Parts: sequence; C-alpha cells; structure tokens
Amino acid sequence: MAAAWQDVVRDAAAVREAAAVAVDAALLAGVLMRTGEQPNASDVVNYAPFTLLPSAVPRALFEQAYAVQQDFNLLVDAVSQNKEFLEQTLASTIKVDDFTARLFRIYMQVLEEGLAQTVFLGINRSDYMFDCGLDGTAALRQIEINTIAASFGGLTSRTADVHRLVLKVLGKSEEASRLLPNNPAKGLALGIAKAWELYGSQRAVVMFLVEEIQRNIFDQRCVENELWNRNIRVVRKRFRDVFEQGSLDASRRLFVDGQEVAVVYYREGYVPQIYDEQNWEARLLLERSRAVKCPDIATQLAGTKKVQQELSRPGTLEKLLPGHPEAIARIRATFAGLYSLDEGEEGDRIAATAIADPDRFVLKPQREGGGNNLYGEELREVLEKIKDSPERTSYILMDKIKPQPALNYLLRAHSPLQVSECISELGIFGVYVRQGRELVLNQPAGHLLRTKATEHADGGVAAGVAVLDTPYLL
Ligand code: ADP
Ligand code: MG
Repeated sequence: MAAAWQDVVRDAAAVREAAAVAVDAALLAGVLMRTGEQPNASDVVNYAPFTLLPSAVPRALFEQAYAVQQDFNLLVDAVSQNKEFLEQTLASTIKVDDFTARLFRIYMQVLEEGLAQTVFLGINRSDYMFDCGLDGTAALRQIEINTIAASFGGLTSRTADVHRLVLKVLGKSEEASRLLPNNPAKGLALGIAKAWELYGSQRAVVMFLVEEIQRNIFDQRCVENELWNRNIRVVRKRFRDVFEQGSLDASRRLFVDGQEVAVVYYREGYVPQIYDEQNWEARLLLERSRAVKCPDIATQLAGTKKVQQELSRPGTLEKLLPGHPEAIARIRATFAGLYSLDEGEEGDRIAATAIADPDRFVLKPQREGGGNNLYGEELREVLEKIKDSPERTSYILMDKIKPQPALNYLLRAHSPLQVSECISELGIFGVYVRQGRELVLNQPAGHLLRTKATEHADGGVAAGVAVLDTPYLL
C-alpha cells in the first residue's frame, strides 16, 4: 500500500498550490465545522480538517468491509434483542463501571414495564484498520462498531468532490475520475425516513438529540436537510429540553414542546459527563416512550467494548445468529484478538502477558468518543496497578493493529503545511429498520475514511486527532 502519490508528495510548490485550492473547495462544498472559540454560533466557521491527498486503500479489503456490513447490522440487532446475552456479558462490567451500570438499569426498567416501541432503527458504523502482516500483506481488522451517534456521514458525503479537484490540480485527472461517489447522509436519512413512516403519524417530527456544545452541527445538518427534502419535519433538542418540555401520553407517545416525536436520533448521550440527574430522567422518559429511538438503549449496550470482546469468543456468534453460517464466517474474518480481563485465570494470564509486552495491545475502558484507550507504558502502569482489583473488569484488552504508514498532508485551520506519516481507519455505515420481528431494511450506507499522523495512538476527528479523507482504491 505504498504511497500512491510519491511523485507529488515532496513537490513543495505543487503541494502549496493544491492545498490552497483544497481549502477553498472544502469551504465551498460545505466541509465545515464551527470554531472552538464560538462552538454554538455559525457567524464564524472553518473547514473541517481533511487530508490533502486521498489515501490508498486495498480494493479487496474495501469490498470486504462493505460485504460484511449487513451481517454486522443483523448481529447488532440480534444482540439488542437478547436479554440473556446482554445480562451475562455485562454482569462483571456493571459491578465496577457506574456508567454502563446506569444504562443497564434503564434497560432493565424499560423491559420490566414492557416496550412501547415497535419500530427499531439502527444506524451504526463499523470501523477497521488494515493490519500489515510480516509478509507485507494487509488484512481487514475491526476496531469497533459504533451503535450510537456515529458521526461524519454528512461531511464525508462532500469530501470526494474536494479530493477529485485536488487530484486534477496535481495533474491526475485519470486518478480523480476513479474516486468513488459516497453519500452516507442520504443513506442515513433513508433509514430515519423509513422509521418515521412506519411510526405512522404525518404530524410527528424527527428529533435530533444534540449536544450542549454543537461544533459539528454541519455534519448533522446534512442529514437533517435530506429529511426536510422528504418533507419530514426535524427539530433539534438537548436532554435539558426533553427534561423541561417532554412528556408521555397514556399510550406512551412522546411529546416535546407540544410536538409528537416519531424518531429520536441521538447525537449525544454516550459519555457519562453529560448526564446529571435531570438528564438521566430525560433519558428514561425517551426510552420508555413509543418513539423510535436510534439507538434504543439495548442497542447502545450492544455497542459496548465488553460486548465486542465477548462476541469474539468461540461459539458466541453461532448462538446469536443461528442459521447464518456464512454471515458468521464473514464477521469473524474481521476480528482482531480480543481478551476479557474478568477475574479468574484467563484474565490473570492475559494481564501478565500485556504487562510484559504492552506494545502488542490496547487497553480499552467502556467509553466512546476517542481519547480513552491506553497504550504502551501507560497501559503497563495502569494494568500493573489494577491487575489484582475488580476494577480490572471495567476494561478489555485488544491486539494492537499495525497498519503500513503513508505520507500525506493534514490540512487543519491555523496549522502549518507539513508532511506527516499517516495511517487510516475505514468506517462503513450501516442502517436497518425492524418492525416487530421483521427486518424491513438492512443495507450499507456509505463509508468514511479518517486519517491521522502515526505519532497519535488514539484517533477521532472530533477529538482533534484524525481528519477526513477519501479512499483511493488500489
Ligand atoms: P472510541 O470509542 O473512543 O472511538 P476506539 O476503539 O475506536 O474507541 O479507539 C479509538 C482509536 O484508537 C481508534 O480510532 C484507533 O485510532 C485507535 N485504536 C483503537 N483500537 C486499536 C487497535 N486495536 N489497534 C490500533 N489502534 C487502535
Ligand atoms: Mg472509534
């Protein structure tokens, strides 16, 4: 997967010219973010960070990632409906992880009352890196699956156009014509629209449940506007608004500020810091309601790292997806080594191995959003400290994936133009809709390539490390 652009990457004049074109093209195309200084106003905005050049991705692995997406949709949906599996899998975690425990409590409470929700909508993004073997061949390895608030489907619907122009400026029209079209915003909106339609009330709205600080609003607007195009009303509300203005009627239909809500699309709610008691109360109200939650709380739990680790145990997929041997084989082929740190011999052994050789592993808590994982010396120190305490079970261990780096330029507002050694992470969006027990929609919905400099172990565009990219298939 060596550099596809070796001839231009060191040509300073060509790079400078292309970068100026690229930044303006991104602004024109709407690849935008609000600024850190004014995160809640659109008076001053900037371009979202992106690579100057598209990054090379092996075609076979790209196709493999697309081909397994419906299987992952099926799997997430199956896990979300399997109370016994969720209970068993998360039993040790919720003893020590308060956040997961609180989510789990709402999950149980909602089940005990009986679900009012009959239509289910999943929007997820399965993320992968290309692990470079000793012989130089690359393999597709899943990093994680995001079942809540998987972002950048909107902005990335506009990055291929920018990269197409950049390649032309660099004299590579032929290569430019080979960049794939990509429109996750449309795909996600299709799923939301289907769920809205099945909910069955013309008057009801789609509610985007958004953060207090909304820097990434343009990404969400791309999906919102697709819904408006279909004449579906969209409102944006925070947990606090739901607490203050939300209520259920006798059949548990959800009303917020007087409007009936058909679909709640969470772009918030996956980190503990945002929940005070009022927001927890609002979350419970939403989950108890008849509205289609994307995701419902069971599906959020299905996306925990502990669940991911248990899925990799021999025999688990067979239990969850009986009668789907081919889907199981495709899913399993993407798994990296994942290890439980539950108390007992198995956990003791892997903890000792990781302490002796920390660079082989990543230590992951039950958190989302980037910047939470531990690597190298830090991994060793933390594991050394908690190895004999129950706290250990709030983490899992994973084999560290080692992709082949390539040179690129990361374009970021107010940052110097300099070449970086980079690695990429490919995400495939998936959307599905289930009515009762019947899956009425299940499809991939486009892709996202994010690239970061190799000096950062952890990633994430919102976390300020990775940037948007476009795959160039080789
Ligand atoms: P989060 O929920 O915070 O996004 P991830 O599991 O996606 O958690 O990890 C965050 C980032 O850390 C990834 O985007 C990737 O850059 C890096 N990372 C995670 N797991 C691995 C791994 N097994 N090998 C190498 N890098 C990893
Ligand atoms: Mg991630």
